[in-house]
Amino acid sequence: MPPLSEEEKDALVRKIGSLGKAFRYGQRCLRCRYCQPCPQGIVIPEVFRAWDMCRDYPGDFKYLGLELYRGLDVKPDACVECRECVEKCPAFT
Ligand code: SF4
Ligand code: SF4
Repeated sequence: MPPLSEEEKDALVRKIGSLGKAFRYGQRCLRCRYCQPCPQGIVIPEVFRAWDMCRDYPGDFKYLGLELYRGLDVKPDACVECRECVEKCPAFT
């Protein structure tokens, strides 16, 4: 089977995002990066990756999420709530 084209990948991500909307509390960042760039320089999918690691990894490995978070050049408190990312995100809008 040939690999997915970029158009097919986009369609798949959007479909998965639409499923997430139906299960609001099961929503997860899809790491699609459609929300980038953030005008404040926040790498949003990496923030969510750190959050997911802290939340989902077993006890001894949660620190990996903390380390990822600590290594972010721009922390999410730099957000000015312009909502540009919200408009672009297939999973959270
Ligand atoms: S709301 Fe604006 S500033 Fe905040 S993370 Fe999204 S794009 Fe960046
Ligand atoms: S657009 Fe949404 S799902 Fe995609 S990387 Fe950004 S926050 Fe994650």
